[in-house]
Amino acid sequence: MTTTPVDGLSGARADAPADALTGELIAAENAHVAHNYHPLPVVVARAEGAWVTDVEGKRYLDLLSAYSALNFGHRHPALVAAAVDQLGRVTLTSRAFHNDRLGPFAEALAALCGKDMVLPMNTGAEAVETGIKLARAWAYRVKGVPEGAATIVVADGNFHGRTTTIVSFSDDPQARAGFGPFTPGFVSVPYGDAEAIARAIDENTAAVLVEPIQGEAGVVIPPEGYLRRIREICDEKNVLFIADEIQSGLARVGTTFACDREEVVPDVYLLGKALGGGIVPLSAVVADAAVLGVIRPGEHGSTFGGNPLACAVGQQVVEMLASGEFQTRAQALGEHLEQALQALVGAGVTGIRVAGLWAGVDIDPAYGTGREIAERLLHRGVLVKDTHGQTIRIAPPLVVRATELDWAVEQLRLVLAG
Ligand SMILES: *Cc1c(COP(=O)(O)O)cnc(C)c1O
Repeated sequence: MTTTPVDGLSGARADAPADALTGELIAAENAHVAHNYHPLPVVVARAEGAWVTDVEGKRYLDLLSAYSALNFGHRHPALVAAAVDQLGRVTLTSRAFHNDRLGPFAEALAALCGKDMVLPMNTGAEAVETGIKLARAWAYRVKGVPEGAATIVVADGNFHGRTTTIVSFSDDPQARAGFGPFTPGFVSVPYGDAEAIARAIDENTAAVLVEPIQGEAGVVIPPEGYLRRIREICDEKNVLFIADEIQSGLARVGTTFACDREEVVPDVYLLGKALGGGIVPLSAVVADAAVLGVIRPGEHGSTFGGNPLACAVGQQVVEMLASGEFQTRAQALGEHLEQALQALVGAGVTGIRVAGLWAGVDIDPAYGTGREIAERLLHRGVLVKDTHGQTIRIAPPLVVRATELDWAVEQLRLVLAG
């Protein structure tokens, strides 16, 4: 049996060698948790702002932010207060009844997006699934596509989640192999090539579904004008433009949405991750009534979707975004980070891609794999995650300080210097 480190640092027992508790807890996970992830060997017990503390009492700067679910940092006081307050009232009603938090949350989120309506779900993958069902229903009921014939155009290198339908249009062999048969109705074209999208569209196309910046692929930023051209193509061909802003949205790139960088408004926003403030799973599909209005009672839903606890946190998130403070911070800190990282290009780094406070850093294979660099950074008190072999992704909480970013980049420099 292992003891749960409820008190975090209390796990550091005088008679036990350092790291014994870490080893014990990791062994318990390995024995009893499916091996669907390969975590770095650190066991987090506490966190605040941009920092986490492990069960041994060691502190680490969190440069992953739970894949941008922690844009506002760990345990932001305003978000914790909203959650605690709601815990004392009501947490779950199901949508069989109304609750007093859903309407105000939806109104605020729709206003942030400049849209009419919200369909609340829990995880990002559920928002994507909802977007797919919505696009198909819209194609049959509004556009007049023959039942069963609707297609959706997606981009190579995409990441939209882990359900069977979503992995059906992934081109990542690890995500797909062994999980077929796959859902038909998707056409994939090269990312960043808007004319390839235009060529893939026919009279049965319901939607174009893309990430405005591909996060899991390694912070891949499309050429300037890509999103604007998709908007034009979708308007011309009467096709919905669905932007998966689950990782790129909610201030990460220096604007509320990554689409804002090209002043583009998609027909449908898919949101998740940071929408739940790093406290609760909360996702949403946001669109105008002409689109979301096609969904009728009984056709779609989720027991926890729109629950009052998540809505209370989500409304606080929207309020924090409405001030523009986090967007401004992401922009300024991102420029700072880019300058610091630029100095490493040619010294173990082969290239960087930066959008707001979000960076993909390609590691020269001669210096180690992305995983090895992440492990060495861990020993220096910096948490990052590798993706696709040679890339590490840097996505700090937007509450991080410039001096902390400088320190983290210095740790990366030291790791690369051997
Ligand atoms: C994380 C992510 C998802 C899936 O979200 P989950 O909450 O993990 O299901 C979908 N799309 C994008 C772009 C993501 O980054």
